[in-house]
Amino acid sequence: MAYLVIAFCFGLAGGIVGRIKGSSFALWFLISGLVPFFGLMAAIAYRFERDEPRRQCPKCGRVTKLYDALCTRCGEELDFPEQLLAPESAERGAVTHAG
Ligand SMILES: [Zn+2]
Repeated sequence: MAYLVIAFCFGLAGGIVGRIKGSSFALWFLISGLVPFFGLMAAIAYRFERDEPRRQCPKCGRVTKLYDALCTRCGEELDFPEQLLAPESAERGAVTHAG
């Protein structure tokens, strides 16, 4: 019984976090409820990954996250880029239908 309460609390927290970040409340409620703690962590980390600025590898052109020190495709060392790419979350467009 205690487990259900904990799962529900995590589900609620994960759902709220997911909703605040523009995702689905129900989706993150389910994920966080099914895998308490990890689901909530995923909900919290979710937007960070998508909001991370990106840059393009000057050598092979692969788009990597800004925090990547090495290109994940060709292994090129990446200096701080002259030009940043918009994060994925901005690229998809902020306009979504509420609900
Ligand atoms: Zn590369």
